[in-house]
Amino acid sequence: MKKKRIWPVSVFLFLLISLFLLSFLPAQQKNPKETLGQWAIHDLNRPLPPVVIPGPPLPPAQPPSDAVILFDGKNLFNWVEAKGQPARWKVEGDYMEVVPKTGNIQTKHGFGSCQLHIEWMTPLPKGEGQDRGNSGVFLMGLYEVQVLDSYENKTYADGMAGAIYGQYPPLVNACRKPGEWQTYDIIFYAPKFDQEGKLLEPARMTVFHNGILIHHNAELTGPTAHKARPPYKAHADKLPLMLQDHNHPVRFRNIWLRELD
Ligand code: MG
Repeated sequence: MKKKRIWPVSVFLFLLISLFLLSFLPAQQKNPKETLGQWAIHDLNRPLPPVVIPGPPLPPAQPPSDAVILFDGKNLFNWVEAKGQPARWKVEGDYMEVVPKTGNIQTKHGFGSCQLHIEWMTPLPKGEGQDRGNSGVFLMGLYEVQVLDSYENKTYADGMAGAIYGQYPPLVNACRKPGEWQTYDIIFYAPKFDQEGKLLEPARMTVFHNGILIHHNAELTGPTAHKARPPYKAHADKLPLMLQDHNHPVRFRNIWLRELD
């Protein structure tokens, strides 16, 4: 007699527990903005995105007619060091190369919202994780899209190539091999502040890595930082674009942007 009752109750309990467990699954499929909160900064448990092999590298394309040319391979006239001195990175062939310990460089002029094109190449592998081909593209000097050799080189997901550093891993790992040219096409919307300095709109980024979408309108939580997610602080509408000296001889070429309203 009792068995007849126990069976349906156990089935009911089983279904209830299954539903409870299943409720955790969709969180991983939501967009990164909704899932950021559950991941600690540089969380090693955060899943690494799948690898996508991009097409082969192409020679640099001509910038569009309304582009502001920031580097055309000839010189660093548009770039300075943090305190305004001439940039000391090396210019060779059609590229510039980080000279370790000379420091970050930034554009002489400031920019806000923009479409940025930049090409980069990491050196032959040396070191591991963050210590391999590390540099960075800092929109407004504050919001970093990570440059790293992420070809068969693991690190925390929010610090790999294409990551919005410390916030969002790329949707896929589209990294080419070291020694091959790669591209970032970044659509950046600057944050907006009211007159009292209160945040009206966060910064947003859409990014293509080697032509492959890796961020779609990601909302930044504030400036990017190492082991921290600092809040927004009101700043100017236009600030210099910065490239990072992280002690590795990373190369850049064909850098241009189109200013957006
Ligand atoms: Mg970096």
